[in-house]
Amino acid sequence: MSLNENADVDTSQVTDVRGSGGGGGGGFRMGGGLIGTLVTLALLVIGGITGVNVLGGGGGGDGSGDNSTVQQECATTNPDRTKNEDCRNILYINSIQAFWQTELPDVYSQPYQKVNTVFFSQAVNTGCGQADSGVGPFYCPEDKRVYIDLTFYDELASRFGAKGQFAQPYVLAHEYGHHVQDLLGTEADVNKQQQSDPGAANQLSVKLELQADCYAGVWAKHATETKTASGKPIFTSVTQQDLDQALQAAASIGDDKIQQQSGGRIDESKFTHGTAQQRHDWLLKGYTTGDPKACDTFS
Ligand SMILES: [Zn+2]
Repeated sequence: MSLNENADVDTSQVTDVRGSGGGGGGGFRMGGGLIGTLVTLALLVIGGITGVNVLGGGGGGDGSGDNSTVQQECATTNPDRTKNEDCRNILYINSIQAFWQTELPDVYSQPYQKVNTVFFSQAVNTGCGQADSGVGPFYCPEDKRVYIDLTFYDELASRFGAKGQFAQPYVLAHEYGHHVQDLLGTEADVNKQQQSDPGAANQLSVKLELQADCYAGVWAKHATETKTASGKPIFTSVTQQDLDQALQAAASIGDDKIQQQSGGRIDESKFTHGTAQQRHDWLLKGYTTGDPKACDTFS
């Protein structure tokens, strides 16, 4: 993968709260280690099952943040900006949102709504309650934001062996896939079904998660077509090796792999995201078709 060194970075698509000391205060604390890697909606599912009101805590979340650092790092006056990890991640976000901005109206006749990613450190207050880094990156449908502690990538590399650079945009594209599901009403439908049939809640969660993986693949297929607001291409190349890195990352965080990695037995009834093989296959399906309509994990 190569990013276009001339691309201008739109830092307004992120909210940097890393300097704010993380979330203090009360409310329900999402946490508990890696059960929730790339959790997203699974948190709400867990809340539904156990009766814990995960939505009760956060209120407004960690407001506006302070983007002065990323603005400086990623300014067009910095010729090395595409080597900076913050700026690279912001460019991934810019690319993912630029893609859906045209794709959603084209394919679903629906407008796309840009939403921010919050860069946090250790803990954060969200519209879905307080979260700590242990849960991994997630999308909160209540405040319509993606949350990530970028040190998650270190864990992905060291603990799960997903070292490739392209694992990073895959993770973000997966989370924005949940935003797309939110916009399309898929997420609300699934929530309703889960409430009426709690026994099927985990299986439904797996379908949502695999669809988000598939959407990530769809974006990856079109990544080199995406442009900044000023019309500059964001990626100059996405290679087979990049795809392989994303596929490896997806497989490395399959439920079976995570259960094995945490030293437990494989318990299919506790799956929320799908097996390594399923995650690999749906990401690949998104990539090979390049079509979000091919991401029908529900039928
Ligand atoms: Zn997810």
